[in-house]
Amino acid sequence: MRIEIVEGDITGRTVDAVVNAANSSLLGGGGVDGAIHRAAGPELLEACRELRATTLRDGLPVGAAVATPGYGLQAQWVIHTVGPNRHAGQTNPALLASCFTESLRIAEGLGVRSLAFPAVSAGVYGWDARQVAQVAFDAVRSYAARSPEGGVELVEFVLFSPETVAVFRSVLESGF
Ligand code: ADP
Repeated sequence: MRIEIVEGDITGRTVDAVVNAANSSLLGGGGVDGAIHRAAGPELLEACRELRATTLRDGLPVGAAVATPGYGLQAQWVIHTVGPNRHAGQTNPALLASCFTESLRIAEGLGVRSLAFPAVSAGVYGWDARQVAQVAFDAVRSYAARSPEGGVELVEFVLFSPETVAVFRSVLESGF
């Protein structure tokens, strides 16, 4: 499993799946969630509403993940995950690690070979980008060590700002 760091907008990535830093309601929000919904089009919200009306009546729990089609995106799939909200007292790194691990598990089940993650919880949810990078790389590395060959080959971290790119690069180079 290869890890790459990319500066830019995750909605334009040509990967098999992009991960959305959603909220539990799955009904849209700001930040990367809003950008993904705008780029994918209204069918994405319809698919999320359908999930809420059927399998996820109480919403998607923190640390869990669920897939929908990508609709207007280049990516075939959107994998929605809910990061912990530090402002709501959700400070357990295991919850954040679970976002990455569960997204990878869902991706593998869909036959995804390339996957793009945003910096889950590093925006409105208030986590420090350095800690997000450490948790994310650690989760991806542990997942790769357990999973058989032939699954997800490329994991991109697509980061909006040069500052976040610099933080992720330095964590990756330090061996986290
Ligand atoms: P959360 O609520 O999980 O903190 P946010 O969407 O507020 O999620 O922020 C997560 C990260 O995604 C932040 O670093 C933010 O700058 C970044 N971000 C926002 N829009 C995009 C986008 N279009 N592509 C990639 N990253 C984005």
